[in-house]
Amino acid sequence: GSTIGVLGGGQLGRMLALAGRHMGYRFITLDPTADSPCGQVADRQIIGEYDDAEAAGQLAALSDVITYEFENIDADVAAKLMTDSYVPQGSQLLYTTQHRIREKRAIEAAGVKVAPYEQIESLAQLQAAIGRFGTPCVLKTATGGYDGKGQWVIRSLDEAGAAFAALSLAKTELVLEQFIRFERELSVIAARNPRGEVKAFPVAENIHVDNILHLSIVPARISDAIRLKAEQLAIRIAASLDVIGLIAVEMFLTEEGELYVNELAPRPHNSGHYTIEACSTSQFEQHVRAICNLPLGATTLLSPVVMVNILGQHVDPVMNWLLEQSEEADGLSVKLHLYGKEEAKHQRKMGHLNLLTNDINQALKWVEDTQIWS
Ligand code: ATP
Ligand code: MG
Ligand code: MG
Repeated sequence: GSTIGVLGGGQLGRMLALAGRHMGYRFITLDPTADSPCGQVADRQIIGEYDDAEAAGQLAALSDVITYEFENIDADVAAKLMTDSYVPQGSQLLYTTQHRIREKRAIEAAGVKVAPYEQIESLAQLQAAIGRFGTPCVLKTATGGYDGKGQWVIRSLDEAGAAFAALSLAKTELVLEQFIRFERELSVIAARNPRGEVKAFPVAENIHVDNILHLSIVPARISDAIRLKAEQLAIRIAASLDVIGLIAVEMFLTEEGELYVNELAPRPHNSGHYTIEACSTSQFEQHVRAICNLPLGATTLLSPVVMVNILGQHVDPVMNWLLEQSEEADGLSVKLHLYGKEEAKHQRKMGHLNLLTNDINQALKWVEDTQIWS
């Protein structure tokens, strides 16, 4: 059997299908919006909501292997997929990573540190916890958040009421986290296959703007000792959580050289898009290999790289810039990736650039000089 079903039709599914097709796999995706980014490159798209168990059953019936490109999958749908098809990533990994508190417990159980946290059930409890953690601290919904949605950085005790009221509307558990004054944000993507083989990709240094990833810089500007620690930590989490496929591990590095895990994602990750041209195996190919129980590919970095996200407001300026520039003169190789989305809405992820360079500072200066992102 060689058809891979992908729950979710976004850009992660699209790049997964593009990679997997080279390996001879067919792809079917399930997404409510016709002509989704993944649907455009897959053999077929089933139109349906993600929580529609019947549509999920249809996907399962047509697929030999099922994977997903986001983790907020309804438990009933996951169960339906499990009974009708082969879901190598299993339901436990989803159950753990779709809930911040369960996820933190699993990270701690792997022997890895997270920021001090507390589940919050009342305003009084929130106020008491703010007293202990100090400000700033961050209140987050346990489920459903992304790109900073579903969280509130509490800068003083007076904000507790407003933060609690606003996030309570989400009707999910809340968790308060101590604010980590990080020196850098890092991520490591690890892959594990059913045979237990585990490999980590090089550490990425990530810069966010308005809670959305802006840049990933690889190699990260950290010592070899931290690099090793970050990679080992990701590998330890992958093994401890019995991961099949990819696990992306976001972390904070403090001035003292401590690493705290922020969150996990059991799928390809935006901070791993640099691997498409800069590594001997991309994160997408690696995910396909892992879920199909093939040997994992080498994760060697072939070139230093800066990945820059293209949001809705950046599309036109980037395209204009590409028409004007001379790559050779700049010593950069600029790789354009667009996701086939029609509407270039403000802050919407439309694509990314991988800037292959032998000088990270030069690539960063290039990003600045275009004035597209400033
Ligand atoms: P994503 O799109 O990565 O899934 P998200 O909505 O799940 O985002 P987080 O990753 O939890 O949000 O937080 C977004 C960003 O906010 C982090 O990358 C980091 O810059 C900052 N942040 C979150 N929690 C903390 C914390 N405890 N201490 C310091 N900074 C934090
Ligand atoms: Mg998240
Ligand atoms: Mg995050």
